[in-house]
Amino acid sequence: MNNKNNLIELDGSHGEGGGQILRTALALSMCTGMPLRIERIRARRPKPGLMRQHLTCVLAAQEVCGATVVGAELGSQALEFRPGRVHAGDYRFAVGTAGSCTLVLQTVLPPLMLADAPSRLHLSGGTHNPMAPPFHFLQRSFAPLIRRAGAGLDLTLRRHGFFPAGGGEIEALITPAEGGLRPFDLLERGAPLDAFAEVIAPALPRGVAERELEALARLTGWDASQLRTLPARQNEGPGNALMITLAHEHLTEVFVAFGERGLAAEDVARMAFAELRSYQSSAGAAGEHLADQLALPLALAVAGSGRPAAFTCTELTEHSRTNFSVIERFLDVRFDSRLEVSRAGNAWRVDVLPGSA
Ligand code: AMP
Repeated sequence: MNNKNNLIELDGSHGEGGGQILRTALALSMCTGMPLRIERIRARRPKPGLMRQHLTCVLAAQEVCGATVVGAELGSQALEFRPGRVHAGDYRFAVGTAGSCTLVLQTVLPPLMLADAPSRLHLSGGTHNPMAPPFHFLQRSFAPLIRRAGAGLDLTLRRHGFFPAGGGEIEALITPAEGGLRPFDLLERGAPLDAFAEVIAPALPRGVAERELEALARLTGWDASQLRTLPARQNEGPGNALMITLAHEHLTEVFVAFGERGLAAEDVARMAFAELRSYQSSAGAAGEHLADQLALPLALAVAGSGRPAAFTCTELTEHSRTNFSVIERFLDVRFDSRLEVSRAGNAWRVDVLPGSA
């Protein structure tokens, strides 16, 4: 199965059917050298096919490995991608709209973590988008786990980018893992270390941030030292995100709710609080988003070392299940998931096993 000459054929509308199928497939095609054909890309989405942010992912992947690509056009629902050798280097990738540039990072990070030299990326587009990892989640939650696997991922936010203006900028310094990625277990959160909330509200009246934080304080009982407003840079926004960060001994989680015109500040606070409550009612270590994003680096570590890894998470979403099945098409690994019921709260345990186990 794990043969470099095998063409991997995927149905992009399968399972969750979103852009993640494409990004994971591109990443693993580059990591393994296996060519890829994907059809029905985002076929069941309201605007099917490659949108600007997905096309940027394809073009970024092509640049990183000199791939031969057919179907890299806006709206395209079929893509063929024949990867070449991955080159570390200095890259600039611009989405060109407010589409998420963190998803572009998600696409090229895996092969660059396995390259033979460090890479520096300059990414522009949206940095805080609904339905994508916000910059602060990647920096606080995801990057430390990449470091635990032995690779370096240092992220700097140069400018916030919100829909619809975009204009966000991120720099990423990626250092490959010496001797390959190391699998690890993430079964427990460990002792709680910190909990705080932050509002980003560039180009919006001050009262928005104050009302969101006051409403969140009423819901959580948190004191003023836990409630912060992040400074905006010039000409950013308009945009609004309320983020909650929970740091534990073994991982940090970041939850976000987005404000929008017509949505009361108090409702934004209630949405962020609902995310927090849902995490706190489970005993799983990773939240639902971290779980689907951790799967790929852990699977690469397991496939490369032949040793297993495991994590627990609060929920096993359709995103996670679909991502597991795409990863299993490329790598000689198996995901084994089961629900663990306990008085501390239910959790899913996911074992990532080498193919031979
Ligand atoms: P897709 O919907 O297939 O384009 O995939 C979206 C990706 O963004 C998945 O990896 C999600 O886990 C991730 N994502 C969505 N919302 C969040 C969030 N609030 N925090 C972190 N990651 C997110």
